Amino acid sequence: MDVVETAGACRDALDRARATGRVVGLVPTMGALHDGHTSLVARARAECDVVVVSIFVNPLQFGDPDDIARYPRTLERDLLVCAGAGADIVFVPSVSEMYPSWPAPPSTTVSVHGVSDRWEGASRPGHFDGVATVVSKLFSIAGPCRAYFGLKDFQQLAVVRRMAFDLSLPIEVVGCPIVREADGLALSSRNVRLSAPEREAATVLSGALAAGRAAIAAGERSGAAVERAMRVAVAHEPLVWLDYAVAVDAVSLEEVGDIDDVGAVRLLVAAQVGPVRLIDNSAALAGADDTLAEPDVTGQVRQLERIG
Ligand code: AMP
Repeated sequence: MDVVETAGACRDALDRARATGRVVGLVPTMGALHDGHTSLVARARAECDVVVVSIFVNPLQFGDPDDIARYPRTLERDLLVCAGAGADIVFVPSVSEMYPSWPAPPSTTVSVHGVSDRWEGASRPGHFDGVATVVSKLFSIAGPCRAYFGLKDFQQLAVVRRMAFDLSLPIEVVGCPIVREADGLALSSRNVRLSAPEREAATVLSGALAAGRAAIAAGERSGAAVERAMRVAVAHEPLVWLDYAVAVDAVSLEEVGDIDDVGAVRLLVAAQVGPVRLIDNSAALAGADDTLAEPDVTGQVRQLERIG
């Protein structure tokens, strides 16, 4: 496994691979790798000839200086995890490699209107511009490839898909299932900052999603009523401060009035638990194929991707 620190070295290695007909798989991460990340690497390993993992804690997507200062950094261990998961190349750029003018931000940034506006975008102003900008740089450095993202960050995936589509980037964006702890908590690099009682309380997020799915399975068709069921599931937990619990159109991320009015509904939840902001989501239909819609020019569903 090669560890490269410059964009030029990363680009050269991947250009060489493509020149011999090999398919490149890219897994962008911010490090502190866990089984959610390794599931993306394993999927890329299974579907591509050359797997590159990027590890970069992107300052452009953090609004809160405290959040980036406390973001876990475990590079030595991450490199072992990458090697164990079958990565060929790990791209570990410095901040100045990615943003030579830093701390002045780059003059050119990428904004994806619409899908960025609500939910995480509203609660974390500028966050998705930072994500879209760094991911577009990583796509530019990696060149034509498949890029693997977790459904865990559902809105981020929608933003990246829309960006790749709108900018005609030669990238196939692949969404991968959420990896969870046995009690339902979605794996996240931030979970290590939870105290034992907070960790216990955090299970109400996946509980809220289950309550929303149960309401729909029982015949509820009002989006507002489904959201109420989700909020009730969190309300009894004093350590969890709910930001939003919503039922949205999986393509536009707009709130749904009637569950049957859109092709695919997604349940989204976000909450502050102690020092940590946690997000989670799920398909609306328990037991149904989990589907994720891709946008086309008209914003209609172009293709429903089975994600298992
Ligand atoms: P991060 O390092 O948090 O930026 O995440 C890097 C990638 O891993 C993103 O595409 C995330 O959606 C994905 N990811 C993070 N947690 C999980 C999880 N629990 N299951 C699946 N994918 C995940």
